[in-house]
Amino acid sequence: MINFQYLRAASAEKALSLLAKDKQARFIAGGTNLVDLMKKGVMSPEKLIDINRLPQREIFLRNDVIHIGALATNAAVADHPLVNEKLPLLAMALKKGASAQLRNMATVGGNMMQRTRCGYFYDIAMPCNKRSPGSGCAAREGYNRMHAIFGQSENCIAVHPSDMCVALAALDAVVVIGQTKGERRIAFADFHRLPGNTPELDNNLKSNEIILGLEVPLNGFGHRVQYLKVRDRTSYAFALVSVAAALDMDAGKVRKVRLAMGGVAHKPWRLTETETFLQGRELTDDLIREAASRSVLNARAYKHNNFKVRMAAESIIQALTDARQQS
Ligand code: SF4
Repeated sequence: MINFQYLRAASAEKALSLLAKDKQARFIAGGTNLVDLMKKGVMSPEKLIDINRLPQREIFLRNDVIHIGALATNAAVADHPLVNEKLPLLAMALKKGASAQLRNMATVGGNMMQRTRCGYFYDIAMPCNKRSPGSGCAAREGYNRMHAIFGQSENCIAVHPSDMCVALAALDAVVVIGQTKGERRIAFADFHRLPGNTPELDNNLKSNEIILGLEVPLNGFGHRVQYLKVRDRTSYAFALVSVAAALDMDAGKVRKVRLAMGGVAHKPWRLTETETFLQGRELTDDLIREAASRSVLNARAYKHNNFKVRMAAESIIQALTDARQQS
């Protein structure tokens, strides 16, 4: 590991002013991904700004919106009574992520900022457009079992590794971002990016900004929810495919539905066309199967991840079926 300077900030204003002095500096909170990246030489910030003393840890309800501070740990959010009662989909997704030890350290903001787990990204001897733009993508012709089937580009076929982010994309969360002169808000589904020609950019956070927290509306998705995660082992493994499903039903018909997938794209993959297809219709087994088939029509697989296409469709069927039978 190379030498780096370590600084602490106790407020978002101070953190942003330190960042403004050095655009190469990086914020660190739980460090559960960044420290690994530094150990492997994938990222080498000369300056780390520790933001653990920022006050943005609170979780509270105001005006039918649950506010979650960026420094709240994944465990604190997953175990919070308000989240379990009002946003069970988020609690389910968080509890299926990482391990108990990691959830105790990892923060909400850090979870959003974590990098892909593509093995070639972490191997500095291999070409990788995300780590070293223009060097190529070793995964396209390499071992690509974990890689994307939606939204990929010729430059990168990596997937975003988070479970929490899939639930937040489904729940229409909003990201609150701090700037030197105020705040801005962005829909969670627009926070992360597809790779396109700039796979080195994971998200739309600017280099002079900080994540302050999340606003999650109480939009009627109480208990008819499911976060289904398919993985190689039952704990501490990233998703091969995951599905966040949330239903608001009225006499057997779909009043509202939200669907998002993880493990399949460079960002949480929201299935808006499938949602529109299901809206207002009676949620029969046949309709669920048709919705699942439609959802994977545009999937594009590679040598080792073709199995994901069928797995994605079957997971959608299972998640919607599970959510439907909750009362
Ligand atoms: Fe790098 Fe993306 Fe290719 Fe993986 S898939 S090697 S992260 S460019």
